Amino acid sequence: MSFGGEHEIYTLQRWMYNHRDPSISDVTREFVDGLHSFMYQATNESFARENGIIFCPCRKCLNNKYLDFNLVSKHLYNRGFIANYYVWLRHGEGCRDSARNSNRNNGVSINLVIIMI
Ligand SMILES: [Zn+2]
Repeated sequence: MSFGGEHEIYTLQRWMYNHRDPSISDVTREFVDGLHSFMYQATNESFARENGIIFCPCRKCLNNKYLDFNLVSKHLYNRGFIANYYVWLRHGEGCRDSARNSNRNNGVSINLVIIMI
């Protein structure tokens, strides 16, 4: 898999909007796999690790609510993602600037990886 140009993100994240497969009336395999990688990244952020919650980017919460990991993955599974959320600004991407806020956590070990799917 290549992470070259920025336009490739639309191809890479296409799974986000390939939510349900009408032919099997269920969520697509591609979506389930993508959701795993999304949750992996989102729950690895320092705020998420410390608090056990992340913004829910589902179609109803619209990235306005903090919910626990489990609930977020259920929402996304059932409802799909908010429109055009290709760059996960609130989930570990594009927030390099806010890294300064986590300087106070320098002493905390980061070997804690939580995946609750
Ligand atoms: Zn939600």
